[in-house]
Amino acid sequence: MNELAHNMATQPALPVDWSADAIINRRETFYSATQRAFVPYENPLIFKQGRGQYLWDEQGNKFLDLLGMNLCISVGHAHPAIQAAVVKQMESLMHCTTMFYHPVPAHYCEELAATMPEGHDWVVHLTSSGTEAADLAIQMARSYTGNTDLVTLHNAYHGATCGAQSLCGISNFRANTVQLPGAVFTPAPDQYRGMFGEGVEPYLDALDRTLHTATSKKIAGMFIEPIQGFGGVVPIPHDYICGAAERVRAVGGLVIADEVQCGFARTGENFWTFQDSGVVPDMVITAKGIGNGFPLGAVIAKREVAEAFSDKFHFHTFGANPMAAAAGRAVLQIIQNEGLQEHSRVMGEKLLAELKKLQDKYEIIGDVRGKGLMMGIELVKDRKTKEPAVEETARVFEKTREKRLVMSKSGTNRNVLRMLPPMCIQESDIEFFAKGFDEAFAEM
Ligand code: PMP
Repeated sequence: MNELAHNMATQPALPVDWSADAIINRRETFYSATQRAFVPYENPLIFKQGRGQYLWDEQGNKFLDLLGMNLCISVGHAHPAIQAAVVKQMESLMHCTTMFYHPVPAHYCEELAATMPEGHDWVVHLTSSGTEAADLAIQMARSYTGNTDLVTLHNAYHGATCGAQSLCGISNFRANTVQLPGAVFTPAPDQYRGMFGEGVEPYLDALDRTLHTATSKKIAGMFIEPIQGFGGVVPIPHDYICGAAERVRAVGGLVIADEVQCGFARTGENFWTFQDSGVVPDMVITAKGIGNGFPLGAVIAKREVAEAFSDKFHFHTFGANPMAAAAGRAVLQIIQNEGLQEHSRVMGEKLLAELKKLQDKYEIIGDVRGKGLMMGIELVKDRKTKEPAVEETARVFEKTREKRLVMSKSGTNRNVLRMLPPMCIQESDIEFFAKGFDEAFAEM
C-alpha cells in the first residue's frame, strides 16, 4: 500500500448521523422529488442491519422481512458466503471493464446459462439492473426479427427507463413524458380481477384482436412476467402463456419472459417460473435477487437472437463487474447447497395455508394467490363486487409494521399485500408472521 492509501485506510471512518430527524431531513433536502416519493409507511422506517430473514431498525427493533428489500435479498441478508466471495474479489480487483478479460464474470455467465432449459444454445449479457436488461431485450428482439411492435400486458412492470417504461401497464409507473413508440397493450388474464373474468380463451381472443388491430401483424415480441409482481402478484395461467407464445411466434415475434421478480428458485417448482408452463422463451430477463443486494441483471438469450444484435458495440459500464459476478456466483451456489428452491416450495405451501386460514376468518381478504415464496392477498370491501379496500389495506399495512413485519403494498389499486421473503425463511417465522398478521387484521 502506498503512503496515501495507508493514511486513508487508517483514517477514522466518515461520520454517519443515525438520528432519525437528521436522516429524514437530509433525504427531504437532497433527494430528488421522484426518489423521495416512494415511501410505504406514514412515518419513515430506517433500517440499520440485516441478517438472514431479519432486519433491525436504527433503534434495535427486530423485524421479520417479508419483502427482501423488494426481492433483492434472495438468500438472506448479510450471507457470509456472499460477503466472503465479494471481499475476496474486492481485494484483488474491484472492476474490470468488459474490453479486458476476467474469469469471474465468464464463469458466472456459464453458470447462468446452465440454469436454462437444455437443447438450446444460451448466451448471457450482464447488466446492472432489470431495466437495462429489459431495454436490451427490446433492442435484441427488434434487431433479430426486423420488426418494431412489441406486445405487453395490462398491469405489467418492466422497468424505469423510457424504453422499459413504455412496456409498463401501470399508470403510476409511467411518466408524463414521451416513451419509446411501438408498444401495444393487451388485457392481462388476471383470474381474479381481469376484464373478462376467469378463463384463458377470452384473453387469447383479445390478444388476437390486439395483434390484428394495433400491430402490423409483424411483431418483435411479447413481454410476459409469468407472475406479475408490481401488478399485484398476478399469476399468468400456463395455458395463456402457451397460447400467447403460439400467436406471437406466428407473427414473427419472440417470447420474452421477465423473471426479475418471480425467477431464480423462489416459486419452488422450477428454477424459472416460465418452466411451469412448458414454454421455452427466446429471452429471459433477470435482476434483483440474483445479486442478493449487489446491482446485477442479465439478459439470457438464444445465441442466434443475441448474434443479430452484434453490429454495434453495446456496452454497460458495470455490466460484467467482477464483484457483482462473484456475488451472483455465490447466490447460485447457495441456492443449490442450501436447497432453497425446494425449501421455497415447502415454505410457500405453509405460507399459503396460513393465508387461506386468514381468508376464512376475515371477509375483507378477497383473494389469496401466488406460488412458493411469491404470495399476495387482495383486500376488497365486498367479495361479490370486489370493490378494492384501499384505505383498509393502508391501515392493516401500518398495523403489520407494529407487529414487526415488513411487507409491501402493491397492485394497480394499492389493495394487494405482497409477501416475498428471503428464501431462508423458516417455519417458526411463518408462525410468527401468521400470528402478527392475524392480530393486525383483528385490530384494524
Ligand atoms: N421487471 C420487473 C418484473 C420488475 O419488478 C422490475 C423492478 N421492480 C424490473 C423489471 C426492473 O428492474 P430494476 O428495478 O432492477 O431496473
